[in-house]
Amino acid sequence: MPRSAKQTPFTLKTKVGCGDLLVLDAPHLYDRDGGLYTDNSGRDWPDNPERFAALSYVAAHLCADGLGKWRPDIVHGHDWQAGLIGEFQRALASDAVQVPFVFTIHNVAFHGTTSPDRLDALSLRKDRFTPDHFEFWGQISTLKAALTKADRITTVSKTYAEELMTPEFGMGMDGVLRARAGVLTGIVNGIDTDVWDPANDSELKPYKSPNGKRSNKKALQAEFGLPNSKGPLCVLISRLTEQKGIDLLLNALPALLSRGGQLALLGSGDPELEVALLERASVEVNMSVRIGYDEALSHRMMGGGDAILVPSRFEPCGLTQLYGLRYGTVPLVALTGGLADTVINANSAALAKGVATGLQFSPVTANALANAFDRLCDLYFDSKTWGAMQRNAMKQPVGWDSSAAEYAALYTQLLSN
Ligand code: ADP
Repeated sequence: MPRSAKQTPFTLKTKVGCGDLLVLDAPHLYDRDGGLYTDNSGRDWPDNPERFAALSYVAAHLCADGLGKWRPDIVHGHDWQAGLIGEFQRALASDAVQVPFVFTIHNVAFHGTTSPDRLDALSLRKDRFTPDHFEFWGQISTLKAALTKADRITTVSKTYAEELMTPEFGMGMDGVLRARAGVLTGIVNGIDTDVWDPANDSELKPYKSPNGKRSNKKALQAEFGLPNSKGPLCVLISRLTEQKGIDLLLNALPALLSRGGQLALLGSGDPELEVALLERASVEVNMSVRIGYDEALSHRMMGGGDAILVPSRFEPCGLTQLYGLRYGTVPLVALTGGLADTVINANSAALAKGVATGLQFSPVTANALANAFDRLCDLYFDSKTWGAMQRNAMKQPVGWDSSAAEYAALYTQLLSN
């Protein structure tokens, strides 16, 4: 077992029922100032491999030994942090009694790699440090450990499931995933429709129809120090990284601003992007930026914005476009991953049928985004069409009902095998 987990023996409840949450209490691993993954200066905790191996080890231990009379039917892990569950299960229990392992990829860019010097510290077998198991270009990869071992692999949209098997999007894991295509499926994420509900949002003047957005827009313009422009107020809420296409946005921005559009942006991340955004905002009257993480403000932005921007280079599912749909804040998104699956592009066929909910652009370049800003403004100034798109957006089922049913079907199928 991981050395660190050995140091603090864990106490386990002996009676477990449906809906119980088991918490691993290991203060030497988890009780520290800073974030879940990083210290206060944004550096990864150096013992992250041990911290998450301990979590995986305990899950595998529960699978192998159960708890009192309870034993899980299925173990479901997410991303590299839970990637070693399958490996530890095999070390702890014979093949005949393995609990089926479902693994979900939320972002294949994070491989959970660490040096093979840690094989002992992580209680991993040296003879399994091979490309068939968890070796990835000379490193231990906990993501690869899961991809080679899981009984079912899911990811958070159908399009991303396809993209993952291509060199362009697979981030080096595309070959592994192609070999496992038979067990890979995409199930789109949902959002919490109680937390994200424009009719019951304490951060806003609540509304049930798009007209209710007007006073929220005024309040948001005031909060961001933006003038009272007649153009569309676009909002963007994001980590600021290369993935999120912020550089494309900066290049395409004139197409929006020249038509009276505005941008209010909330985010944090890459210091260079933060500086570039703040510098640009200091010279543009119709652009305003808040650096930081602020959930309450993100609600006010959804309520007051006319459109939500998601110009990501890749996006496994994306959540802000789903909030946007629910709030009648029309999504303008790159045609990739979950953004491709959740937005109905306002092309002429969708507009003629009256089913459009947003705009998509492709390829994911500044030019295509600039063209999309032009289309967005055309649609926005045609208030009848815009209103219809907002109402369609607000009717989309963005909660968990259908996705939960898909997970349930996958579990049932796995258990019946
Ligand atoms: P990712 O998981 O790649 O960061 P998603 O769109 O899937 O992107 O999820 C991001 C979540 O984090 C959303 O709920 C979004 O509203 C929230 N978020 C991101 N940045 C901020 C921020 N600066 N302030 C508030 N919420 C944020």
